[in-house]
Amino acid sequence: MAEMDNNDFENMNFDLPPEVLDEIQQNIEEIIRNFPVPETNKLDVIKKINFMYSHTRYLSLTDPLTGLYNRRHLDSNLEREFLRSKRYHNNLSIAVIDIDFFKKVNDTYGHLCGDYVLKEVAYMILDTLRKTDMVFRCGGEEFVALLTETPLEKALIPLERLRKRIEEYPFEYNNNKLQVTISIGVNSTESGVETAGEFLDGADKALYFAKNNGRNQVKTL
Ligand code: GH3
Ligand code: MG
Ligand code: MG
Repeated sequence: MAEMDNNDFENMNFDLPPEVLDEIQQNIEEIIRNFPVPETNKLDVIKKINFMYSHTRYLSLTDPLTGLYNRRHLDSNLEREFLRSKRYHNNLSIAVIDIDFFKKVNDTYGHLCGDYVLKEVAYMILDTLRKTDMVFRCGGEEFVALLTETPLEKALIPLERLRKRIEEYPFEYNNNKLQVTISIGVNSTESGVETAGEFLDGADKALYFAKNNGRNQVKTL
């Protein structure tokens, strides 16, 4: 690994959730305890380990193309957020967002154009939803958003805004103008589901309705 100076470490911002940062901190303390380091360069060593650990952790939770959280991170957050919402009686909404006829984009303009569309769509999802919402890329052209402390009715507003924003966005790749639309299936804990799995399945089913009903729309169960 290339040498890095302290400023490099201090300027890094991986935007990790607080519980991950706590875990990193505990791990570092344990490493330092088990491998005593001379007092004089203790700070340096701590910073380096901290950087390596958080960077590895970041890579394991994110999708390299879009920078969004990946499927693995959804698996570890879905259940927890679902249980948290039940316990504290907060509403949680979930959206499954899928690009319409995305295969046609790849087939017509090539895979790199598909990647460009994925990155733009990912950015617009993040930019349209709240900072407290979590967005994951879960498969090729499928994304999941967890909207915390948001009842269904309130979730539909930004999701409809997102659908419209993408429909109206002037996608352009190598001088080709493209029309891109998305379909969104939404579920919320108000539907009374018992498990996180059923919660996600509900949103998937709603997405299926959106696709069958003509695409480019937001659907609930
Ligand atoms: P629908 O409206 O029913 O969702 O149709 P679709 O074409 O979007 O769905 P389908 O599941 O048939 O195709 C998804 C395509 O996504 C297939 C694959 O070529 C493409 N894909 C998956 N991952 C990537 C990726 O990382 N980059 C690019 N460019 N394409 C990808
Ligand atoms: Mg699709
Ligand atoms: Mg799909």
